[in-house]
Amino acid sequence: MSTNDDEARLLRSVALQNASSILMARQRAEQRQEAFLAEAQRLSHTGSFGWRVATGEIVWSDETYRIFQYDRTTTPTAECVLQRVHPEDTPQVKQAIERASQDRKDFEHECRLVMPDSSVKYVHVVAHVLHDESGGVEFVGAVMDVTERKRAAVLLAGEKRLLEMIARGDSRALVLEGACRVFEGLASGSLSSILLLDPKTNRLRHGAAPSLPITYTEAIDGLVIGPCVGSCGTAAYRAEQMIVADIATDPLWADYRDLALGHGLRACWSTPILSSTGKVLGTFAIYYRERRSPTPHERELIEQITHLASIAVEREQAEEALRQAQADLAHVSRVTTMGELTASIAHEVNQPLTAVVNNANACLDLLPKGAPNVEEVREALAEIIDDADRASAVILHVRQLAKRAPIEKSLLDLRDVVKDVLALARYESAARRVTIHTDLPEDLPSVSGDRVQLQQVLLNLVMNGMEAMNTVEESKRVLTICGRLETRGGMRAASLRVQDSGTGFKPEEMDRLFEAFYTTKPQGMGMGLAISRSIIEAHGGRLWAEPNQGPGATFLISLPSAGHAAS
Ligand code: ADP
Repeated sequence: MSTNDDEARLLRSVALQNASSILMARQRAEQRQEAFLAEAQRLSHTGSFGWRVATGEIVWSDETYRIFQYDRTTTPTAECVLQRVHPEDTPQVKQAIERASQDRKDFEHECRLVMPDSSVKYVHVVAHVLHDESGGVEFVGAVMDVTERKRAAVLLAGEKRLLEMIARGDSRALVLEGACRVFEGLASGSLSSILLLDPKTNRLRHGAAPSLPITYTEAIDGLVIGPCVGSCGTAAYRAEQMIVADIATDPLWADYRDLALGHGLRACWSTPILSSTGKVLGTFAIYYRERRSPTPHERELIEQITHLASIAVEREQAEEALRQAQADLAHVSRVTTMGELTASIAHEVNQPLTAVVNNANACLDLLPKGAPNVEEVREALAEIIDDADRASAVILHVRQLAKRAPIEKSLLDLRDVVKDVLALARYESAARRVTIHTDLPEDLPSVSGDRVQLQQVLLNLVMNGMEAMNTVEESKRVLTICGRLETRGGMRAASLRVQDSGTGFKPEEMDRLFEAFYTTKPQGMGMGLAISRSIIEAHGGRLWAEPNQGPGATFLISLPSAGHAAS
């Protein structure tokens, strides 16, 4: 063999070696690329698929298998997909598959999947159509698991809705029910409940439980908290989260096991709702019908909803405290007004009492004279009864006004309210030489209100009006109380105008009069009108002032009629 042949062989073998190492390198590069791609799919929760429409043949990437939670030995089919689709979304998905196989156009779709552990996933599918030379059609697409994004968006929308409800002042029951529903919408199969702690009795009271069986919520309403009282009673007692994955075996449920299992409830996780100062306000509980522990996502969700519930409950308690403070203030102001009236009330009571004594004496005089004049005695006795009635009516009004009673709304005839107030202010007006006129028509509609509070407002306006006329010539001291039926925007309202001919006020003072502590009187407190306005507004009405054309001022109250709509 020549050296040339040897060289050629050598060269060929080198070339072959080179070629095979290049091939191996390329293979390695391809494998790495595939590994990178798989890793990228895993990280972005985006799987890929191919679908030959004619044969129905489907191929999935590893990530797609993971998203649908099938093992790699499963041959992917449209049936496999439909098996995982949320029952509520199945019709749309079926329709989308049919339309894609007919139209053979790019498509995009979003739906929910229910996993074997009953957790819910949101997927977004995009597919591009490819046509081969033989006219065959294949879709190549991506399945994106958008659960996190979707949940965050749904939770955010839910939180926004709840915060709006809280800000709007919707009832606590409505807000708490909304909070339960937000959770249930995000954790399918869950049944949630909110119980509120009554610190005086240490009992948990029903707050909201839109999906739990009513017989169950009724049975646990009023539960006394303690170290071994199911999940909620214990969570509230220890101020700690209690996760009971299986009610059937957990000792905390010893006394309530049969009740819960009897209602098909198997797991219960309860979280205390804490105030900003760490006080237990209640519990937020999640029930499932199967044994179960919370996923990290559910734990996070529980934390968020519990926080919202605490805002709602605290806000309600703050409002209640404010209402109480306002009621106390109104009471103080009422007692102050009564204090101003003490002298005239004493006189008002004294007058009939004097008359009672006089009449009784007269009766005594009449009796001993042989045959008494029965007719005169009868008249005197009738007067005694009238006077005593007058005195006791005044005392009754004083007691009603001075009483610290909870607000109680009832159907009221405003003419009675005016009558009560005038009975109290009668002597005061006489002493001040003020003439009071009333014009209260028959058709003045009834209102729903607290009698004592409305008396307080009117008494305040009457007293202010009389005071404003102190410096006015006696003959011109006239106070008029006028009632009217009004219809505005289809709603019936009762209005009361209290008009005086006093000093009046400047137009720019109009709103300041209602500010707390605004007064122009040396001994004034400046709270009367502020409190009166808040009382009227709490009755759904308005209180405002207008300067008169001539001298003096007019104060106007408008209250919705008890029937509301105009007939
Ligand atoms: P106070 O009577 O203690 O001053 P109010 O809140 O009842 O407190 O009244 C606030 C102020 O409004 C009074 O000081 C007075 O300046 C003005 N005002 C109230 N009623 C009348 C009225 N009928 N005419 C003119 N000014 C009035």
